[in-house]
Amino acid sequence: MACSWRPITTRSCLLRFRSAFALRGSRHHSSSSSVRSNPVMAEAAPASAVPDVDVAGNLARVRAALEETHATKSLTHTTRLVAVSKTKPVELLQAAYDAGQRDFGENYVQELAEKAPEMPLDIRWHFIGHLQSNKAKVLCAIPNLAVVETVDTEKLALELEKRWVALADERAEKDPSSKGRVLSVFIQVNTSGEESKSGVEPPDAAPLAAFITENCANLKVAGLMTIGMPDYTATPENFECLKKCRSDVAERLGLPDENVLELSMGMSSDFALASEMGSTNVRVGSTIFGARNYNK
Ligand SMILES: *Cc1c(COP(=O)(O)O)cnc(C)c1O
Repeated sequence: MACSWRPITTRSCLLRFRSAFALRGSRHHSSSSSVRSNPVMAEAAPASAVPDVDVAGNLARVRAALEETHATKSLTHTTRLVAVSKTKPVELLQAAYDAGQRDFGENYVQELAEKAPEMPLDIRWHFIGHLQSNKAKVLCAIPNLAVVETVDTEKLALELEKRWVALADERAEKDPSSKGRVLSVFIQVNTSGEESKSGVEPPDAAPLAAFITENCANLKVAGLMTIGMPDYTATPENFECLKKCRSDVAERLGLPDENVLELSMGMSSDFALASEMGSTNVRVGSTIFGARNYNK
Protein backbone atom coordinates (compact mmCIF):
# COMPACT_ATOMS: atom_id res chain seq x y z
CA MET A 1 0.00 0.00 0.00
CA ALA A 2 1.26 3.45 -0.84
CA CYS A 3 0.34 4.76 2.54
CA SER A 4 3.02 5.54 5.05
CA TRP A 5 0.97 5.86 8.17
CA ARG A 6 2.49 4.35 11.20
CA PRO A 7 0.91 1.11 12.32
CA ILE A 8 -0.20 0.92 15.90
CA THR A 9 1.37 -1.73 18.12
CA THR A 10 -0.94 -4.33 19.58
CA ARG A 11 -0.23 -3.23 23.10
CA SER A 12 -0.88 0.47 22.64
CA CYS A 13 -3.88 -0.57 20.59
CA LEU A 14 -5.33 -2.48 23.52
CA LEU A 15 -4.71 0.40 25.87
CA ARG A 16 -6.35 2.72 23.43
CA PHE A 17 -9.37 0.47 23.18
CA ARG A 18 -9.75 0.44 26.89
CA SER A 19 -9.64 4.19 27.29
CA ALA A 20 -11.91 4.62 24.31
CA PHE A 21 -14.53 2.36 25.84
CA ALA A 22 -14.22 4.00 29.24
CA LEU A 23 -14.88 7.31 27.54
CA ARG A 24 -17.84 5.92 25.69
CA GLY A 25 -19.44 4.76 28.88
CA SER A 26 -19.03 8.02 30.72
CA ARG A 27 -20.02 10.08 27.75
CA HIS A 28 -23.30 8.38 27.19
CA HIS A 29 -24.71 9.81 30.40
CA SER A 30 -23.91 13.36 29.46
CA SER A 31 -24.41 13.09 25.75
CA SER A 32 -27.67 14.99 25.59
CA SER A 33 -26.09 18.32 26.51
CA SER A 34 -23.11 17.90 24.18
CA VAL A 35 -25.41 16.90 21.34
CA ARG A 36 -27.66 19.88 21.94
CA SER A 37 -24.74 22.31 21.99
CA ASN A 38 -23.51 21.04 18.63
CA PRO A 39 -25.84 22.02 15.79
CA VAL A 40 -24.28 19.57 13.32
CA MET A 41 -24.71 16.61 15.63
CA ALA A 42 -28.10 17.75 16.84
CA GLU A 43 -29.45 17.84 13.31
CA ALA A 44 -27.70 14.79 12.02
CA ALA A 45 -27.88 12.39 14.92
CA PRO A 46 -30.93 12.57 17.12
CA ALA A 47 -30.15 10.20 19.96
CA SER A 48 -33.45 8.41 19.58
CA ALA A 49 -33.37 7.52 15.90
CA VAL A 50 -30.49 5.43 14.61
CA PRO A 51 -31.36 4.74 10.98
CA ASP A 52 -31.90 1.11 10.09
CA VAL A 53 -29.07 0.56 7.62
CA ASP A 54 -27.29 -2.68 6.72
CA VAL A 55 -23.83 -1.14 7.11
CA ALA A 56 -21.95 -4.46 7.15
CA GLY A 57 -23.75 -5.69 4.02
CA ASN A 58 -23.20 -2.38 2.20
CA LEU A 59 -19.53 -2.40 3.13
CA ALA A 60 -19.15 -5.97 1.90
CA ARG A 61 -20.71 -5.02 -1.45
CA VAL A 62 -18.44 -1.99 -1.90
CA ARG A 63 -15.36 -4.06 -1.03
CA ALA A 64 -16.45 -6.79 -3.45
CA ALA A 65 -16.95 -4.25 -6.24
CA LEU A 66 -13.47 -2.83 -5.62
CA GLU A 67 -11.93 -6.29 -5.59
CA GLU A 68 -13.69 -7.20 -8.80
CA THR A 69 -12.43 -4.05 -10.53
CA HIS A 70 -8.89 -4.78 -9.42
CA ALA A 71 -9.13 -8.41 -10.57
CA THR A 72 -10.78 -7.86 -13.95
CA LYS A 73 -8.58 -4.89 -14.84
CA SER A 74 -5.42 -6.46 -13.37
CA LEU A 75 -4.66 -3.30 -11.42
CA THR A 76 -1.30 -3.24 -9.67
CA HIS A 77 -2.00 -0.50 -7.14
CA THR A 78 -4.11 -0.91 -4.02
CA THR A 79 -7.18 1.17 -3.28
CA ARG A 80 -8.01 2.09 0.28
CA LEU A 81 -11.69 2.42 1.13
CA VAL A 82 -12.52 5.42 3.31
CA ALA A 83 -15.98 5.25 4.87
CA VAL A 84 -17.39 8.78 4.80
CA SER A 85 -19.53 9.09 7.91
CA LYS A 86 -20.45 12.78 8.01
CA THR A 87 -23.87 13.47 9.59
CA LYS A 88 -24.17 9.80 10.66
CA PRO A 89 -24.50 8.70 14.31
CA VAL A 90 -21.62 6.85 15.97
CA GLU A 91 -23.75 3.69 16.20
CA LEU A 92 -23.47 3.34 12.42
CA LEU A 93 -19.74 4.06 12.48
CA GLN A 94 -19.35 1.38 15.14
CA ALA A 95 -21.20 -1.08 12.90
CA ALA A 96 -18.68 -0.34 10.13
CA TYR A 97 -15.82 -0.68 12.60
CA ASP A 98 -17.16 -4.05 13.77
CA ALA A 99 -17.16 -5.12 10.12
CA GLY A 100 -13.44 -4.35 9.97
CA GLN A 101 -13.48 -0.77 8.65
CA ARG A 102 -10.63 1.39 10.02
CA ASP A 103 -10.41 4.41 7.69
CA PHE A 104 -13.19 6.95 8.20
CA GLY A 105 -13.73 10.34 6.56
CA GLU A 106 -15.40 13.36 8.15
CA ASN A 107 -16.11 16.85 6.76
CA TYR A 108 -16.77 19.02 9.80
CA VAL A 109 -14.14 19.68 12.48
CA GLN A 110 -16.63 20.02 15.31
CA GLU A 111 -18.46 16.82 14.36
CA LEU A 112 -15.18 14.90 14.10
CA ALA A 113 -14.01 16.28 17.46
CA GLU A 114 -17.24 14.97 19.03
CA LYS A 115 -17.14 11.55 17.38
CA ALA A 116 -13.44 10.67 17.63
CA PRO A 117 -13.40 10.17 21.44
CA GLU A 118 -16.50 7.95 21.17
CA MET A 119 -14.79 5.57 18.77
CA PRO A 120 -11.81 3.20 19.11
CA LEU A 121 -8.40 4.80 18.79
CA ASP A 122 -7.09 2.54 16.05
CA ILE A 123 -9.34 4.32 13.58
CA ARG A 124 -7.53 6.43 11.00
CA TRP A 125 -9.48 9.65 10.55
CA HIS A 126 -9.34 11.40 7.20
CA PHE A 127 -10.39 15.02 7.25
CA ILE A 128 -12.06 15.65 3.88
CA GLY A 129 -14.04 18.88 4.38
CA HIS A 130 -13.24 22.49 3.70
CA LEU A 131 -10.91 23.56 6.50
CA GLN A 132 -10.74 27.05 7.93
CA SER A 133 -7.39 27.98 9.46
CA ASN A 134 -8.98 28.80 12.80
CA LYS A 135 -10.17 25.17 13.12
CA ALA A 136 -6.71 23.67 12.59
CA LYS A 137 -5.97 23.60 16.32
CA VAL A 138 -9.04 21.50 17.19
CA LEU A 139 -8.34 19.17 14.28
CA CYS A 140 -4.67 18.64 15.19
CA ALA A 141 -5.66 17.73 18.76
CA ILE A 142 -7.33 14.54 17.52
CA PRO A 143 -4.67 11.94 18.32
CA ASN A 144 -5.54 9.51 15.54
CA LEU A 145 -5.94 12.07 12.77
CA ALA A 146 -4.25 10.30 9.87
CA VAL A 147 -4.47 12.71 6.99
CA VAL A 148 -5.88 16.11 6.05
CA GLU A 149 -7.02 15.63 2.46
CA THR A 150 -8.06 19.20 1.75
CA VAL A 151 -5.02 21.46 1.93
CA ASP A 152 -5.34 24.16 -0.72
CA THR A 153 -3.54 27.26 0.55
CA GLU A 154 -0.11 28.13 1.94
CA LYS A 155 -1.82 29.82 4.87
CA LEU A 156 -3.67 26.65 5.84
CA ALA A 157 -0.50 24.55 5.51
CA LEU A 158 1.42 26.93 7.77
CA GLU A 159 -1.36 26.87 10.34
CA LEU A 160 -1.48 23.04 10.34
CA GLU A 161 2.31 22.94 10.72
CA LYS A 162 2.16 25.33 13.67
CA ARG A 163 -0.69 23.50 15.45
CA TRP A 164 0.70 20.02 14.78
CA VAL A 165 4.08 21.01 16.25
CA ALA A 166 2.50 22.76 19.25
CA LEU A 167 0.67 19.55 20.19
CA ALA A 168 3.60 17.17 19.60
CA ASP A 169 4.50 16.76 23.28
CA GLU A 170 0.92 16.12 24.27
CA ARG A 171 0.57 13.46 21.57
CA ALA A 172 3.81 11.75 22.57
CA GLU A 173 2.75 11.71 26.20
CA LYS A 174 -0.45 9.83 25.38
CA ASP A 175 1.23 7.58 22.83
CA PRO A 176 5.04 7.37 22.85
CA SER A 177 5.00 5.67 19.44
CA SER A 178 3.64 8.89 17.92
CA LYS A 179 6.88 10.73 18.72
CA GLY A 180 8.18 12.48 15.64
CA ARG A 181 5.15 11.58 13.55
CA VAL A 182 4.53 14.01 10.72
CA LEU A 183 1.03 14.83 9.53
CA SER A 184 0.14 13.51 6.08
CA VAL A 185 -1.64 16.00 3.85
CA PHE A 186 -3.14 15.81 0.38
CA ILE A 187 -3.29 18.79 -1.94
CA GLN A 188 -6.92 19.39 -2.93
CA VAL A 189 -7.28 20.28 -6.60
CA ASN A 190 -10.31 21.85 -8.27
CA THR A 191 -10.34 19.67 -11.38
CA SER A 192 -13.72 20.71 -12.73
CA GLY A 193 -12.85 24.36 -13.30
CA GLU A 194 -16.19 25.34 -11.89
CA GLU A 195 -16.69 28.16 -9.48
CA SER A 196 -15.71 26.64 -6.16
CA LYS A 197 -14.18 27.81 -2.95
CA SER A 198 -12.11 24.69 -2.45
CA GLY A 199 -9.05 23.32 -4.18
CA VAL A 200 -6.15 24.89 -6.03
CA GLU A 201 -6.28 25.30 -9.78
CA PRO A 202 -4.40 22.43 -11.45
CA PRO A 203 -1.28 24.48 -12.36
CA ASP A 204 -0.98 25.59 -8.71
CA ALA A 205 -0.75 22.07 -7.23
CA ALA A 206 2.99 21.63 -7.78
CA PRO A 207 3.97 25.08 -6.41
CA LEU A 208 1.87 24.46 -3.27
CA ALA A 209 3.43 21.01 -2.81
CA ALA A 210 6.88 22.57 -3.12
CA PHE A 211 5.99 25.31 -0.64
CA ILE A 212 4.83 22.74 1.93
CA THR A 213 7.91 20.57 1.42
CA GLU A 214 10.21 23.56 1.91
CA ASN A 215 8.39 25.32 4.75
CA CYS A 216 6.49 22.71 6.74
CA ALA A 217 8.92 20.15 8.11
CA ASN A 218 6.18 18.40 10.07
CA LEU A 219 3.77 17.96 7.17
CA LYS A 220 4.23 15.36 4.48
CA VAL A 221 2.73 15.85 1.04
CA ALA A 222 1.38 12.33 0.62
CA GLY A 223 -0.96 12.78 -2.31
CA LEU A 224 -3.62 14.73 -4.17
CA MET A 225 -7.37 14.82 -3.77
CA THR A 226 -10.29 15.97 -5.89
CA ILE A 227 -14.04 16.05 -5.56
CA GLY A 228 -14.87 16.80 -9.18
CA MET A 229 -18.01 18.85 -9.59
CA PRO A 230 -19.47 20.88 -6.71
CA ASP A 231 -22.41 18.44 -6.60
CA TYR A 232 -20.06 15.53 -5.73
CA THR A 233 -20.03 13.99 -9.18
CA ALA A 234 -16.86 13.55 -11.17
CA THR A 235 -15.98 12.75 -14.76
CA PRO A 236 -13.10 10.74 -16.21
CA GLU A 237 -11.63 14.11 -17.26
CA ASN A 238 -11.48 15.18 -13.61
CA PHE A 239 -9.64 11.97 -12.72
CA GLU A 240 -7.23 12.39 -15.64
CA CYS A 241 -6.59 15.95 -14.52
CA LEU A 242 -5.68 14.83 -11.00
CA LYS A 243 -3.27 12.23 -12.42
CA LYS A 244 -1.60 14.91 -14.50
CA CYS A 245 -1.27 17.07 -11.38
CA ARG A 246 0.36 14.15 -9.61
CA SER A 247 2.99 13.91 -12.37
CA ASP A 248 3.63 17.65 -12.04
CA VAL A 249 4.00 17.40 -8.26
CA ALA A 250 6.32 14.38 -8.48
CA GLU A 251 8.51 16.17 -10.99
CA ARG A 252 8.58 19.37 -8.97
CA LEU A 253 9.51 17.51 -5.78
CA GLY A 254 12.09 15.42 -7.60
CA LEU A 255 10.42 12.13 -6.70
CA PRO A 256 11.78 9.16 -8.63
CA ASP A 257 8.33 7.52 -8.83
CA GLU A 258 5.05 9.42 -8.93
CA ASN A 259 3.25 6.37 -7.57
CA VAL A 260 4.50 7.15 -4.06
CA LEU A 261 1.92 9.95 -4.14
CA GLU A 262 -1.67 8.97 -3.52
CA LEU A 263 -4.69 9.84 -5.62
CA SER A 264 -7.81 10.43 -3.54
CA MET A 265 -10.68 10.37 -6.01
CA GLY A 266 -13.97 8.53 -6.41
CA MET A 267 -17.14 8.55 -4.33
CA SER A 268 -20.33 6.48 -4.12
CA SER A 269 -21.30 6.93 -7.75
CA ASP A 270 -17.89 6.40 -9.34
CA PHE A 271 -15.48 4.68 -6.96
CA ALA A 272 -14.99 1.68 -9.28
CA LEU A 273 -14.16 3.88 -12.27
CA ALA A 274 -11.87 5.99 -10.09
CA SER A 275 -9.95 2.98 -8.83
CA GLU A 276 -9.63 1.72 -12.39
CA MET A 277 -8.14 5.09 -13.28
CA GLY A 278 -5.58 4.88 -10.50
CA SER A 279 -7.28 6.01 -7.31
CA THR A 280 -5.51 4.75 -4.18
CA ASN A 281 -8.11 6.22 -1.82
CA VAL A 282 -11.84 6.22 -2.57
CA ARG A 283 -14.23 8.10 -0.29
CA VAL A 284 -17.59 6.37 -0.09
CA GLY A 285 -20.41 7.69 2.06
CA SER A 286 -24.05 7.19 1.13
CA THR A 287 -23.55 3.76 -0.42
CA ILE A 288 -22.31 2.51 2.96
CA PHE A 289 -24.33 4.55 5.47
CA GLY A 290 -27.44 5.47 3.49
CA ALA A 291 -28.51 8.81 2.05
CA ARG A 292 -27.74 11.89 4.10
CA ASN A 293 -30.54 14.09 5.33
CA TYR A 294 -29.34 17.56 6.22
CA ASN A 295 -32.69 19.16 7.07
CA LYS A 296 -34.20 16.64 9.43
C1 LIG B 1 -19.54 13.56 1.34
C2 LIG B 1 -18.26 13.36 0.65
C3 LIG B 1 -17.94 12.14 0.06
C4 LIG B 1 -18.88 10.95 0.02
O1 LIG B 1 -19.91 11.18 -0.89
P1 LIG B 1 -20.95 10.00 -1.27
O2 LIG B 1 -21.49 10.43 -2.58
O3 LIG B 1 -21.97 9.97 -0.19
O4 LIG B 1 -20.20 8.74 -1.35
C5 LIG B 1 -16.68 12.01 -0.52
N1 LIG B 1 -15.80 13.03 -0.53
C6 LIG B 1 -16.08 14.22 0.02
C7 LIG B 1 -15.07 15.29 -0.02
C8 LIG B 1 -17.32 14.42 0.61
O5 LIG B 1 -17.57 15.62 1.14
